[in-house]
Formats: sequence, structure tokens, C-alpha cells
Amino acid sequence: MKPLDYICEGQSDNADGIAERSVYLTFDDGPNSFFTPQILNVLAQHQVPATFFVVGAYAADEPELVRRIITDGHGIANHTMTHPDLAKCGPVEVDRQIVEANRVIGMACPQAMVRYFRAPYGIWTEEVIAASAGAALAPVHWSIDPRDWSRPGVDAIVDRVLADIRPGAIVLLHDGCAPDELQPGNQASLRDQTVTALSRLIPELHGRGFVIRSLPQHP
Ligand SMILES: [Zn+2]
Repeated sequence: MKPLDYICEGQSDNADGIAERSVYLTFDDGPNSFFTPQILNVLAQHQVPATFFVVGAYAADEPELVRRIITDGHGIANHTMTHPDLAKCGPVEVDRQIVEANRVIGMACPQAMVRYFRAPYGIWTEEVIAASAGAALAPVHWSIDPRDWSRPGVDAIVDRVLADIRPGAIVLLHDGCAPDELQPGNQASLRDQTVTALSRLIPELHGRGFVIRSLPQHP
């Protein structure tokens, strides 16, 4: 069986000399009315771009956050409509999950350019990659997962990223929470560690000579 063909790291084409020191921040499972604005504020404070893989059902509820992500200069990408394990979905449902999320993003922000797709839980199959390609989306995984969603502590998140960072790295972080993992009443502390870790990570990465970029416009 040939390996599944999805993107784990950015290309270092050296074309502009910056590419070789580029790293990419990605945020999954938003937009979240409480934490996405905080993440956006930290990114704005440091003038750093990121890519947000949004859940369509949340994007439908938070169209203003979708627009802010784009007007702030970030990339917006597709993380399905309701965040199912696509390996357990039939082909019609896989297509629907991807197409519907694109439609919702387009309704919130007609000028949005959606170019990337990330499978929930990073669970890829040949069918999922084909469906992604069918919607003209490049499949993007990650190369660094500090497991911020498990709230391991700010130090653990920062240390994991800095231990693994290298040119082209795609870092997985979360500005929201998958629908099936949401616990009522737990909102206030949900992604506070991610917000704090981000505010420490950006200066650390810059100090090490890395350039934080949006995922390339033309994968
Ligand atoms: Zn997710």
C-alpha cells in the first residue's frame, strides 16, 4: 500500500531565502467566541499570520469571526462541517462534510479563498484525500503536535514545540474544541494554556531566526 499523500511540512524551495527558515502555525476546531479573539489578538500584537482550520458548524454560528480571521490577514481552511472521524463515514457523507464546510465559509465571507483541508483527528484515508482533491483542497496534516488540547500546561506546550521546531514545520494548535469533546461549563479554561503558550512561542521562534508564515497560497 502506498503511503497516503498529505502535506506534513512546508516546502523549503529557497526561492526567496526566507522559505528555509519558515514555520507555520495552524489552529483547529474553531472559531470559538471566547478563545479565537484572544488568539487573534496575540497574533496581531506580534504581526504574525496563521491558518485556521474551522469547523463548519461553528463557522455558521460565528460568521463575524470568520470575517475577522480573513481581514486580519490569516488563512482560513476546511476542517469538515461537524468534525466526524471520516474513516467511519461513507463516501457521500465525506463529500458532504467537506463541501458543506466550504459553503458555510463562503456564506460568511464570499471573498474567502479556501485552499486547504485537514481531516478531523488527522485520520486520513485514500477516500478522504480524493474527496479533498475533488473540492480543490490540498490535504494538510502537521509535523508538531504539542497536544495543547489535552491542557498539559503552558510550559509543556512551549517546550514541545521548541524541541521539535525545524524549517518547514507545521505546528498544530487549537482555538476551539471538537463538538463531541465540548463539556458544558468548561469554556473558561478550555484554551487558556494555548493562548498563553502562543504569546511565549512567537518571540521564542523569532529569537531563533524562524519566520512565521501563512501556509503558501499555491501548495
Ligand atoms: Zn480537529
